[in-house]
Amino acid sequence: MNMTRRVFLSGLGASALAGAAGPAQAWESKAPDDPLGCLVDLARCTGCRKCEQACNNVNDLPEPDTLFTDLRLLDVKRRPDAGAYTVVNRYFPGKVDDENQLIPVHVKVQCMHCQDPACASACITGALSKKDNGTVHYDVSKCIGCRYCMVACPFQIPAYEYHKTVTPKVMKCTFCFDRLEEGKKPGCAEICPVEAITFGKRSMLLELARRRIRNDPGRYVDHIYGEKEAGGTSWLYVSPVPFHQLGFIDVPDFPMPRLSESIHKAVYSYLWAPVALFGMLYGVKSYNDRRDQKQAGQGGAQ
Ligand code: SF4
Ligand code: SF4
Ligand code: SF4
Repeated sequence: MNMTRRVFLSGLGASALAGAAGPAQAWESKAPDDPLGCLVDLARCTGCRKCEQACNNVNDLPEPDTLFTDLRLLDVKRRPDAGAYTVVNRYFPGKVDDENQLIPVHVKVQCMHCQDPACASACITGALSKKDNGTVHYDVSKCIGCRYCMVACPFQIPAYEYHKTVTPKVMKCTFCFDRLEEGKKPGCAEICPVEAITFGKRSMLLELARRRIRNDPGRYVDHIYGEKEAGGTSWLYVSPVPFHQLGFIDVPDFPMPRLSESIHKAVYSYLWAPVALFGMLYGVKSYNDRRDQKQAGQGGAQ
């Protein structure tokens, strides 16, 4: 988490001390039945960072300070930010090869495009919404810059253009919405030279993931990250080692909007809306903080 994000979230917590959380509302899923998604195979990824470069190209993001060919950056545990919708980090979870050399595992990080996205649930203007094709889409024309989506996201994904004084935006992986509409693959999936990213219907990706695990149990752990986490996500992962060794956030299986979707109700239903709103957001933030502290104690901060 960078400083500007931390400062914003800390400020929210201080404001919320005066608030009181209301009871959570019953959550009704609006997820599409079988959306598009991507399966990232961490046993295949070589950490070449070509997906990062392709992402910046297709999204017209600025050139980074460090060249995409500089692989030393893999060892800096980065998060997506306003200038990079996806980043690749390198871990050494302890497996060794025939020559007793530690085997690295590379992890591509981006928005998970949750089936029931907490960010969209927290967004009081509808600027974020789950589309039928699987993308969690951001409409800048509706965004008022409140950044509640940053608090609600259990995967710590949305970033904010703090450096811009005029019309700053929330920034996150778009799942290449326009390319998908044109029938193309996401830029990162198209470029990957080792087919570590497979694009397709979520049901097909789950079947592919299960087949890889079944056919090669020595190569993969029996866990598809994203199948159940946060109620299921459009981006899925298979891995050669347990996910907590790779900085993956330990997210519960239920849809996270259960923790935050009563925000809408508070805003529109009660005179004490601001107090309830900050109280509920503080509840979500506290939950995420407790989880992060627990995970840091297990050595799994991403
Ligand atoms: S392009 Fe493929 S192999 Fe290279 S870092 Fe990205 S996911 Fe890994
Ligand atoms: S990972 Fe976060 S930003 Fe992406 S869809 Fe899920 S809640 Fe929203
Ligand atoms: S789907 Fe598109 S926006 Fe998302 S990480 Fe891949 S290239 Fe970037």
